[in-house]
Amino acid sequence: MAKENFVWLRGQIRREPVVIRNKEEKPIGVVFTIYTINRDVTDRTGHLAPKFDKPVVMIEDPLLVKKALTIKNHDIVELKGVFRTGTSVRKKICPCCNAENHVQVTTQVITPSYIGIVKTGLTSDAEGLNELIDTAEISNFAKIIGRVCTPTDKIHYGTTERNDIFTRYQLAVNRKMYIAGSDGYDDHTDYPWIISYGKQAYNDHIALQQGSLVYLDGFVHTMLMKVHAKCTECGEDFAFDSQRMMLTPFSVEYLQNCNNSDIDQTRENKDEEDNTTPDHDRGMDCSIE
Ligand SMILES: [Zn+2]
Repeated sequence: MAKENFVWLRGQIRREPVVIRNKEEKPIGVVFTIYTINRDVTDRTGHLAPKFDKPVVMIEDPLLVKKALTIKNHDIVELKGVFRTGTSVRKKICPCCNAENHVQVTTQVITPSYIGIVKTGLTSDAEGLNELIDTAEISNFAKIIGRVCTPTDKIHYGTTERNDIFTRYQLAVNRKMYIAGSDGYDDHTDYPWIISYGKQAYNDHIALQQGSLVYLDGFVHTMLMKVHAKCTECGEDFAFDSQRMMLTPFSVEYLQNCNNSDIDQTRENKDEEDNTTPDHDRGMDCSIE
């Protein structure tokens, strides 16, 4: 099966990168958030209305760590990497009984194989904004080949609170290359969630089923989601906010096991539908653990 897991980001650093050190205080990792800008920088009326995504980048490769240690706040940085998923445990306090709970959450990071500092010496977020707007077309894009692993009846087709239709599903994406810090043989597939909107959501909802193979051309989309957990002490359900990275397609090519024979026909009847990317959904209440 053809493999592809390619992410390109070019954006501004707006918080000091976090350096991870070993017992000897030697830096072994760097984590930072990169502010990228959506390629549609105007709203539906043509006014400038930039939308940002804030992918989290994690670096463990020693050579890249060295480079990343030179990144300063407000720098413009570019990188090529892969979308990587995993799990980790978060400590959360139950709001009912104050017990500490260890909740397993899914994690998503971009792991780069190249980082470049495009511009340094900027002193504010505002100073980087024009640079971001000028290069919006190459600020954030991803190309992924994956197989739908969500059971067909769990592929979610719904509407956002702003009345945009969306389809949400998960892909299994095979890795092409070894990644420093991965856990060996078993850690070789990533499971990004995909959220498509508008006409793309409509087509995905018709075409996709569990096992469909797709080629996705899109961008890394970050949003705040509610995660639900059950307290191990008192049994109460509680929810907390969690920043998530997903992928949102500009287009999806249906490669195998897709029900796309009707799609061109349906598209003609639906050509009035709006296909612009909606404002990012904040606080979407759904559990995708
Ligand atoms: Zn409790």
